[in-house]
Amino acid sequence: MEKNIKKVLLSQEQIEAKVEELAGYLRAEYADKNPIFIGVLKGVVIFFADMVRKMNFPCEIDFMCISSYGAGATTTGNVMVKKDISADIKGRHVVILEDIYDTGNSLTFVRDYLLSKEPASLKICTLLDKPERRKPGVTLKPEYVGFTIPNEFVVGYGLDFNEQYRNLPYIGVLKPEVYEK
Ligand code: 5GP
Ligand code: MG
Repeated sequence: MEKNIKKVLLSQEQIEAKVEELAGYLRAEYADKNPIFIGVLKGVVIFFADMVRKMNFPCEIDFMCISSYGAGATTTGNVMVKKDISADIKGRHVVILEDIYDTGNSLTFVRDYLLSKEPASLKICTLLDKPERRKPGVTLKPEYVGFTIPNEFVVGYGLDFNEQYRNLPYIGVLKPEVYEK
């Protein structure tokens, strides 16, 4: 195991099985809808790539980038579009793929932003959900949730700490001394 990882929270095998399960729901729902899968960069890229390769029907992909966490492990609550989607989603079926639903700032912002572009429908599929961290007043409920996890800072499978660890094939918890220094 990576020397800075305290424990593996979700193994590669657990993640693969969950991706297959979530992809199954989306295949059943979107096969005849030519949906646009929208990923919020960068944390989602690994999950996104695994998910869209399991779609066996016409679909498109697009990405947006927002500022949220910055370099550290705390959030500011300020969200800004750093990179917009390039597709015109008006009248289209949109699925937001997310890595983790944490305080809810990012997803609430992204959902409202995309809804303002008048898609025919919009649903959210998040790999991870950390409900203990939710900010009061955040009411959003993703239609599809992979794993509900405890209030610990996780890395791997796309998720970073200071841009590191995204390439780990599993999801793990960092040793506290890594982010306390
Ligand atoms: P929210 O706006 O819901 O607080 O946070 C969403 C974003 O914060 C995620 O897309 C992710 O980039 C980052 N984030 C939240 N929790 C974690 C975590 O445990 N580990 C990592 N690496 N990023 C997180
Ligand atoms: Mg991040």
